[in-house]
Amino acid sequence: MPGKKQTDFFDVAVVGGGPSGRITALTLAKRGLSCVLVAPAAPRPDGRTTALWQKSISLLDEIGVWQSIRDNAAQLKKMRMIDDTGRLIHAPEVVFDSSELELEEFGFNILNNDLNAVLEERCAAQKNLTVVPGLVSSAAFGREHAVLTTANDKTIKARLVVAADGRNSLLRETVGIDVKRWSYPQVAVVLNLEHRLPHHNVSTEFHTPTGPFTLVPLPGRQSSLVCVETAEGAQRLLTMSTSELELELERRAHSILGWFKLASKAQSFPLAGLTATRLTADRLALVGETAHVFPPIGAQGLNLSLRDISDLGNVLSKALARNQDIGSSAVLAGYETRRRSDIRSRTNAVDALNRSLLTGFLPVQLARGAGMYFAGKVGPLRRLLMREGMAPGAGFELFR
Ligand SMILES: Cc1cc2nc3c(=O)[nH]c(=O)nc-3n(C[C@H](O)[C@H](O)[C@H](O)COP(=O)(O)OP(=O)(O)OC[C@H]3O[C@@H](n4cnc5c(N)ncnc54)[C@H](O)[C@@H]3O)c2cc1C
Repeated sequence: MPGKKQTDFFDVAVVGGGPSGRITALTLAKRGLSCVLVAPAAPRPDGRTTALWQKSISLLDEIGVWQSIRDNAAQLKKMRMIDDTGRLIHAPEVVFDSSELELEEFGFNILNNDLNAVLEERCAAQKNLTVVPGLVSSAAFGREHAVLTTANDKTIKARLVVAADGRNSLLRETVGIDVKRWSYPQVAVVLNLEHRLPHHNVSTEFHTPTGPFTLVPLPGRQSSLVCVETAEGAQRLLTMSTSELELELERRAHSILGWFKLASKAQSFPLAGLTATRLTADRLALVGETAHVFPPIGAQGLNLSLRDISDLGNVLSKALARNQDIGSSAVLAGYETRRRSDIRSRTNAVDALNRSLLTGFLPVQLARGAGMYFAGKVGPLRRLLMREGMAPGAGFELFR
């Protein structure tokens, strides 16, 4: 029956209800592809915040999401890095200032709950997009199309499947894409704080021997905190009384924002890393944490995922315009090529920065200290680092 086939057969099936899945579905539907999103309901409120750089904000704007979260977002105008390792080799403080790049701000810090709620609402209302609640339970990838079966026995066919089903992806496993996994002896403790003094839209990252302790502005006199600790240290923080925790965090922040008052419950996230050895297989493309995971340092994770989505959108739009099969290996090879070096360089940079804090090895401490010294003193290098921090290749525009 032609009518029935229409509802079951899509250009793209996106799997995963996190930000990567929902943003992919909205991006591709907006570009005229018929899409289905298979997404389970969010398991729990997400108390985290996400710092997003300019390019990510542009994508959220393009899909009609940004205007709804802008009012609850805080501008990130400056980023301060302070060596608080207490080690013999002590790096000087570095301040990255968006005005040096003639930008109003580097980006914005948003509440994950706000982002998730708006994404859910937009997905439900988006033309060309059907949302199927629930999990995918199996997938088969054929020459002409892929077939997904959901846990409630619905069958979906699509020319291309985009896997955004997270670090333990069923789809990635089904096609046999290997991953390299590693772990860190660290846990991120995350919460939001009210404070006495204004943050002036400055994000401050203290580099401590257990990892970064980062305060990121929220609207008003509030900031979010990501405190990277050992597993035992995290446990100690999580079991403190509210007043003990507030005092301990103020001590670690050297009172730069005055007293602290908890504005949310603490959540913890063990740190881990993962890289998929390939980003594509027959009729399958991986985006977001299905393809890459690394520690929450320098606010790179979701920003990298949004560049996956943006590049995938461009590759598929081009293929559509040329009347190519969007799930063909020739088209997907274009996506794989575009994304490889960005993913590799971000993963390596975050890993190296994190390990340089943990190591007691003097030459590495020396290299980190020298890097911070030169970043503070040498304007062109500082500007290059700022641009590269926001998007790959952007730093080198200076030298063009
Ligand atoms: C403490 C912390 C702070 C962070 N801060 C920042 C920041 O400031 N800036 C930044 O850019 N990044 C940040 N990140 C990274 C960012 O949060 C992640 O990159 C992002 O949340 C990952 O989203 P995702 O959609 O790729 O994966 P997930 O959120 O893991 O989504 C996967 C989804 O797939 C679903 N799923 C799983 N299996 C199936 C199935 N079989 N069928 C259907 N659906 C399935 C899951 O239910 C889930 O909804 C931070 C991370 C942490 C831990």
